[in-house]
Amino acid sequence: MSKLGNATAKAELGRAAWKVLHTMTLRFPESPTQDERDALKSYMHLFARLYPCGECAQEFQTLLKEYPPQTSSRKAASVWLCSVHNLVNARLGKEEFDCNALEGTYDCGCGGEEEAGASDVNETG
Ligand code: FAD
Repeated sequence: MSKLGNATAKAELGRAAWKVLHTMTLRFPESPTQDERDALKSYMHLFARLYPCGECAQEFQTLLKEYPPQTSSRKAASVWLCSVHNLVNARLGKEEFDCNALEGTYDCGCGGEEEAGASDVNETG
């Protein structure tokens, strides 16, 4: 793939990844159990290890060390991720996102369902 093609693919992957991550934190329980908190923390660390863009993964691991995932509530988790994404934006010379606008930006089309989570999937098989 050409250099331009690589950059386009990396950007596309990034947009898709951020969308999943932000949508997930905005659906995270308002009052999570310890198990749910541990799951989110592990998810972020595993994500940072396995993310297929090596340079991005490395940088994200460094950010996680400095700014550990906040898991005490939906608000804490979503604002934490927004701030971390803003740090990546700053490094890449992109504009800062207003974290007050999070709620209106991410809609997974899951309205009416209970708070989503892996545990729901497991319970229903
Ligand atoms: P993106 O940054 O992908 O954002 C997508 C959309 O999310 C924006 O259009 C906006 O609507 C919204 N948004 C923007 N900022 C925020 C925020 N703070 N909170 C909530 N929503 C927001 N690329 C590199 O070249 N080098 C890297 O080291 C690198 N590291 C990355 C690390 C991670 C963990 C991820 C997921 C991606 C990384 N990327 C990296 C990709 C990069 O962050 C962008 O995804 C890519 O450059 C496309 O940028 P974009 O301008 O389309 O918007």
